[in-house]
Amino acid sequence: MLRNDQLAEWDRENFFHPSTHLAQFARGEQQSRIITGAQGCHIEDRNGKKHLDAFAGLYCVNVGYGRTEIAEAIAKQAHELAYYHAYVGHGTEASITLSKMILDRSPAHMSKVYFGLGGSDANETNVKLVWYYNNILGRPEKKKIISRWRGYHGSGLVTGSLTGLELFHKKFDLPLAQVLHTDAPYYFRRDDLDQSEEQFVAQCVASLEELIAREGADTIAAFIGEPVLGTGGIVPPPAGYWTEIQKVLDKHDILLIADEVVTGFGRLGSMMGSDYYGMKPDIMTIAKGLTSAYAPLSGSIVSERMWKVLEDGTDENGVIGHGWTYSAHPIGAAAGVANLKLLDELNLIENNRETGAYLNKAMRDALGDHPHVGDIRGEGMLCAVEFVRDRDGRILFDASEKIGAQVAGALADSGVIGRAMPQGDILGFAPPFCLTREEADEVVAKTADAVGKILG
Ligand code: PMP
Repeated sequence: MLRNDQLAEWDRENFFHPSTHLAQFARGEQQSRIITGAQGCHIEDRNGKKHLDAFAGLYCVNVGYGRTEIAEAIAKQAHELAYYHAYVGHGTEASITLSKMILDRSPAHMSKVYFGLGGSDANETNVKLVWYYNNILGRPEKKKIISRWRGYHGSGLVTGSLTGLELFHKKFDLPLAQVLHTDAPYYFRRDDLDQSEEQFVAQCVASLEELIAREGADTIAAFIGEPVLGTGGIVPPPAGYWTEIQKVLDKHDILLIADEVVTGFGRLGSMMGSDYYGMKPDIMTIAKGLTSAYAPLSGSIVSERMWKVLEDGTDENGVIGHGWTYSAHPIGAAAGVANLKLLDELNLIENNRETGAYLNKAMRDALGDHPHVGDIRGEGMLCAVEFVRDRDGRILFDASEKIGAQVAGALADSGVIGRAMPQGDILGFAPPFCLTREEADEVVAKTADAVGKILG
């Protein structure tokens, strides 16, 4: 077996890590973290240290680690048929079965699923489908996509543009011109502290209306949003937000893309975030929870209304000019089928709802009165703690103090992994759905200790 120091050296010399401080890593100021195994909610590193992974990887290992049912389904598929493509009507039992299982779990008006590999490429597909749709309908000007500041939709060219976080734009010449951003439904960060939730929703709606009026509704094709903002800070929308946004979109004939990469398949305690908030999407993006990350697979679920147009349009145009080599990869599809079965058989969404509520309440009980905790929020198995310098005036810490990262670091030292969200002093949690109450208690107790160490 290779020595740890040898691996770390190769790592520094050869491996271009995503979302990593390149210079600090190259200089060895940030250490390699080499993970060797995992079970349930725990991962183990090469030094033999165990960590409670309260972020389920990147909120994706929803059924927990070490599920032999999924591993065996993958192995069986690899032995029988590791690969065949899905072009010109080809498929496998796994990919066809999975498409049916997905539609059975989606709102009734959804019609077909296109398979990709990850959330970014699925959203790339969505934008192309929206453009294709409007071209078929003879509306070549109706192409712009509205996203929200703090939305996260991937880090490709168009998807990095949709993402409303500066880090993903800076020095990449993004966002592209076809993408516009509107306000995030982030009530805690409202400008006017006296504003009620209802007034704040009305303001979000008014600024969307203004943007549409300024650009012209006939130039705007779609609005994309996560039911709950994820990477932008784990922010559930205020009551009534999606109902009001949906009305505006319907009025201007703007399609809704619900990015369910995090919320899809149970993270909020219901099958889809769109059901949870009564959204009526034209496209839904799914990824992470589709396979619980046992293999890469994503999907774009297209509504009946869009499908009809696409279907009629290909009559004129011939074969649709869109496809990946690995669309509906059999190994991903086999993992997806086994994963969705497991969610049902083990009642994991129900456990998620109950334990998620327990975790959120325990976090509020432990830290709700802390003078530097401004907000504790969550939904289902998502929870976030936001730190502030001054609680009453809601004055934030200076970003250079990196308070969120410091607390996440202290927490990691104690054996619990949370995530310092990329923008703001926000510590996020998104554990696997199999989290027990004892594990939730450990997350909360160690978070309270870590907050105490950094902020007193
Ligand atoms: N959409 C959302 C809501 C996401 O959270 C993510 C990933 N965190 C993506 C899209 C992009 O997915 P991927 O990283 O698989 O490309």
